[in-house]
Amino acid sequence: MALLEGKIAVVTGAARGIGQSIALKLAEEGADLALSDVQADWLSETKEKVEALGRRAEVYGVDVSKGDQVQAGVDQIQKDFGRIDIVVNNAGITRDGLLMRMSEEDWDLVMNINLKGTFLMTKAASRYMMKQRSGVFVNVASVIGLMGNPGQANYGASKAGVSNLTKTTAKELAARGIRANAVAPGFIKTKMTDALTDETRDAMLSVIPMKDFGLPEDVSNVVCFLASDMSRYVTGQTLSICGGMVTA
Ligand code: NAP
Repeated sequence: MALLEGKIAVVTGAARGIGQSIALKLAEEGADLALSDVQADWLSETKEKVEALGRRAEVYGVDVSKGDQVQAGVDQIQKDFGRIDIVVNNAGITRDGLLMRMSEEDWDLVMNINLKGTFLMTKAASRYMMKQRSGVFVNVASVIGLMGNPGQANYGASKAGVSNLTKTTAKELAARGIRANAVAPGFIKTKMTDALTDETRDAMLSVIPMKDFGLPEDVSNVVCFLASDMSRYVTGQTLSICGGMVTA
């Protein structure tokens, strides 16, 4: 039997990138998908790919930083699928700049989407999971949240917050049969890394012991493990996926 047979999974920020890769991996392992992103119509490609794997996919336009949209979206998902087994809080943005020049607006935007968005989704979905007495959260943090990085004060702080929120979620909900873990990706190969100059690319690779960037699939494989019963006794952890860059 596939690892996630019969499970209902919600993935935020599923239109592209790592979120799309996570949705496809969960579908491959037998889950049906509630796909969410800021606009529902951005999700048509992911929906088609999930359906091509023989799984059900519905799309939801939800800005995770808006409490009313999150509540309405999660309520609708529960209505459409009848349960929520897995929530992957993947939606996230960067607005980089040195601390001295960072605007209050860019600080708030990153915090509201990356950290508050994870809180709002967790709060809304856990109400249903508590009634079921089962559920799993996998939150997408970052190695930057573990080690800091010049130019990423807002992003690093938001992702450190995600790791810590994961610990509290795990401790508060463990007795109800709900687990929460986070993944902390390092440099993952995306359109962004493809566009780097050789010099920047070499500088980035020099700090990675494995001397290679990760792939979106490296993240989605670990998310799948944490979403499944294979990790039954794991909760409150942040697992780095970074080629050995961060070892703590
Ligand atoms: P991406 O390609 O930009 O995808 C992020 C998705 O989230 C986009 O579809 C984006 O939509 C969506 N999103 C943005 N704001 C949202 C909101 N308010 N509500 C709902 N969805 C929203 O990024 P990615 O590289 O795949 O990153 C996915 C996650 O991994 C993020 O949390 C990121 O911080 C984390 N991460 C990535 C890396 C990396 O190397 N790529 C490393 C560590 C951690 P838009 O089109 O509006 O932007």
